[in-house]
Amino acid sequence: MTETRDLLHYDAAGLRQLVESLGQPAYRSRQIWRQLYQRGQLDPMAMSDLPSEFRQQLAEAAPPPADALEVQTSDDSSTTKALIPLGDGELIETVLIRSAPRDTVCLSSQAGCAMGCVFCATGLQGLRRQLTTGEIVRQAVLARGWSRAEGRELTHVVFMGMGEPLANYANVSEAITRLTAEDGFGISPRRLTVSTVGVPPGIRRLAAEHPRVNLAVSLHAPDTKLRRDLVPVPGASIDDILSAVREHSRETGGRVTFEYVLLQGVNDSRAQALRLADRIKGLRAHVNLIPLNPSPGVVGERPSRRATLRFQQALQESGIPATVRVEQGRDIAAACGQLRGDRLRRVE
Ligand code: SAH
Ligand code: SF4
Repeated sequence: MTETRDLLHYDAAGLRQLVESLGQPAYRSRQIWRQLYQRGQLDPMAMSDLPSEFRQQLAEAAPPPADALEVQTSDDSSTTKALIPLGDGELIETVLIRSAPRDTVCLSSQAGCAMGCVFCATGLQGLRRQLTTGEIVRQAVLARGWSRAEGRELTHVVFMGMGEPLANYANVSEAITRLTAEDGFGISPRRLTVSTVGVPPGIRRLAAEHPRVNLAVSLHAPDTKLRRDLVPVPGASIDDILSAVREHSRETGGRVTFEYVLLQGVNDSRAQALRLADRIKGLRAHVNLIPLNPSPGVVGERPSRRATLRFQQALQESGIPATVRVEQGRDIAAACGQLRGDRLRRVE
């Protein structure tokens, strides 16, 4: 695996070292930091407050990453999806969702994903590799640039793109630190959400290390047996996931979101909604229902609007707040679970 060693690869201390190794005073690293994280300037040659000779040296030591390959915007202009090439030829996708007054970037945390959820296009690939911290933050920096080019501002960050963020904990955690640093990218942790398939040790670490970040847990079933049909990689039981969520909630005082992808005739009955409500009762929770987004090669059908509303209503009757996610960007395959990199073109 070749790592991309552009400037985003370095943390603050690493950047200082790099600068000093090039014979420059340490304060230059703070200038570079501001260029990267506040202005979104990833190309050393364009960092106009640096001496030109140093810019040249920097561009040789840390060449800028390649630009996004393809940027597509949905017919209603609400969603932009970019295909981003990594240094070793892997491709990932990043999505910007405009929903006034919010601009939200949906970040990928891995190339592919090992969990193999049967309804998810990313899962079809298996895990190709972990993304580095720099590759994760680069997506946010790029997306903020797209927003700003339209006179808007990026307001929210969600880890809901390709991959399972808590299976790449160290790099995701460092990315959260960088994205929320006040002297850096500056997104409030309250506006950042990590969506996980449910990795209990990762949920506990998140509570301890990033208590202000929002947690979303993809549950998809009221009982472990059905869940294992949908999320086949042997993972935690629903009991184990819920006990980690309870601890998270006790420690952080935060509210958890459960995501539940609805598949027609599989997990969308009223009885299943009531059982789900029963299991998560007592938690400060909210359920976000996501009617399946079909994608080539994945299993399952999207339920009718009626079935979706019936499920939502059963939860609400049981005292569980539930919403149906408004999906954007389906026409450019940018909605939840539709991201697959450019697998077909690249591999076959
Ligand atoms: N791996 C993490 C985050 C990425 S997936 C997770 O699973 O939570 C983000 C959300 O998209 C998850 O809730 C996931 O279940 C959902 N999703 C995956 N495939 C989908 C599909 N085909 N239609 C609708 N939602 C999907
Ligand atoms: Fe991975 Fe999330 Fe897709 Fe499951 S839904 S395969 S955990 S990205």
